[in-house]
Amino acid sequence: MTSTQQQSQTAEEIEQYDVIIIGAGVTGLYALWRLRQLGFSAHSFEEGSGVGGTWFWNRYPGCRFDSESYTYGYSFSEELLQEWDWKEHYSGQPENERYLNYVADKFDLRRDIRLNSRVMSAVFDENENCWEVVMEDGNRARGQFLVTSVGILSAGYVPEFEGKDSFKGVSCHTGRWPQEGVDLAGKRVGVIGTGASGVQLITEIAKEVSHLTVFQRTANFCAPLRNSPIEDETQREIKESFPEIFKKCLETPGSFVHEFDPRSAMSVTPEERLEQYERLWQKSGFAKWLSNFYDVMMPGEANEDYAEFFRNKIRERVNDPVVAEMLVPKTHMFGSKRLPCESGYYEVFNQDNVLLVDVREAPIERITPAGIKTKDAEYDLDVIVFATGFDAVTGSLNRVYIRGEGGQTLKDKFANGPRTYMGVQSAGFPNLFTINQASVGNFVRAAEPLVDWVTEAMAYVRDNEYSLISASPQAEEEWTQHVADAGAKILRSQADSWFVGANIPGKARGLLTAPDTAPVMRAKRDEVAANGYEGFLLQ
Ligand code: NAP
Repeated sequence: MTSTQQQSQTAEEIEQYDVIIIGAGVTGLYALWRLRQLGFSAHSFEEGSGVGGTWFWNRYPGCRFDSESYTYGYSFSEELLQEWDWKEHYSGQPENERYLNYVADKFDLRRDIRLNSRVMSAVFDENENCWEVVMEDGNRARGQFLVTSVGILSAGYVPEFEGKDSFKGVSCHTGRWPQEGVDLAGKRVGVIGTGASGVQLITEIAKEVSHLTVFQRTANFCAPLRNSPIEDETQREIKESFPEIFKKCLETPGSFVHEFDPRSAMSVTPEERLEQYERLWQKSGFAKWLSNFYDVMMPGEANEDYAEFFRNKIRERVNDPVVAEMLVPKTHMFGSKRLPCESGYYEVFNQDNVLLVDVREAPIERITPAGIKTKDAEYDLDVIVFATGFDAVTGSLNRVYIRGEGGQTLKDKFANGPRTYMGVQSAGFPNLFTINQASVGNFVRAAEPLVDWVTEAMAYVRDNEYSLISASPQAEEEWTQHVADAGAKILRSQADSWFVGANIPGKARGLLTAPDTAPVMRAKRDEVAANGYEGFLLQ
């Protein structure tokens, strides 16, 4: 902050709101709308130069939904549902960003959003019982409540490769793709990382680069997305079925439209099993695992049986058997990492101008001015893309200096993993709702009820003439123990991935989101609210 700016905003001029929202992505936009409905004055401060969060920043080639577009959009406005036409079953980033801009305009949200305003700090004022945020430009604002809609996957992670800054070409992270784009046509491009972002990007850019080198550390289970345009007749059917679509999503564990087969894979004959695997393989999107026998998504025999089916599918698609074996996942259970969907990913490795490098076998030693040097070889490149993921959940919170009661910072408190009550609050940080911690599964379906609950909690505080709500230390302790105990047993805790913070060197290992299914989480929150916000201290 410059001294001029400090002087220019006197105490009287500091903007005051009931609620300050950090972020204008999917949850921030909805929180703003919902808070207005409840009669609060709310304002969102957004780092980006546009709204959309994830769909503003992740503009890398190939970026698109893996969830069905019509299950991902907001459900709160019938008018919006009827007037917005999703063009594809799995919509691409440009369209998704357009959608969120359309929402911002339609509901006149922009008057309460300040773009290009990165929040640097949020400090709780114990005398005034309010939060004060300071933006990068030095401006300040105060609010009784603070909502961090900062996303679970928004703090990009680039490994500390030696010589990282010495590269003379162009380099960027998938999650911070330049708005003006990156010229890749005819270039020698290296991509580090083969998670969901890398898989989408690699498939798309292989069409235009002169040479592509893919640096893979862990092979993934990837399955065909089978995207297609939405025909007019289907569009009409979708619009008529929104109540059923959303009802179904609310009933399933991850808020997706797919429902598990209640049979065990091992309870049917091998022929029946294979028939089901093949039938689902032809379907689009996540049906291949979320409509499958329920136990393929649990550690055990069924999981391994389906994993082998997947491995064979990969072997069928890659011409060179050595390359095929490099692409076949063998070190983690099927479903223990997020499963990328793809649109021709494996065939990319049949192209003459594409090289797959195993960096577990021969780790990257350094970035050089000319490219990347591994233990075995040097690769000359014009462009390096870091598809190396995110410091999930806590990373985006830690980018803001958040200080609660008694001078305690949230970063220090979460040093050994998040300590929250139901993912929404942490003791000692009154009126702060960290809503990026409680979402699981299909993001918007999980986020809407969560935002509803959080905003209704604020209304409860106001309407009952309290001024503060904060998680009790005991409720927090019990919840944190529950996350540790229940979280350790579930499939997505079993691999080294962002789900458990294992992708970031030095980060404490532990499940970063709720271990319960979406319906269970909603029921728990509803019960807490029905019991007068049990587990929270109100004063
Ligand atoms: P990610 O899944 O964490 O993948 C990061 C990749 O970088 C992995 O292949 C990882 O290898 C590799 N990597 C990290 N550090 C490395 C190092 N030092 N050397 C070599 N390789 C390294 O990140 P992501 O692909 O960005 O996806 C993150 C999440 O975003 C997804 O799980 C998903 O939830 C979401 N996402 C969603 C969509 C969608 O809905 N369509 C699209 C993209 C992303 P290891 O596996 O060995 O760690």
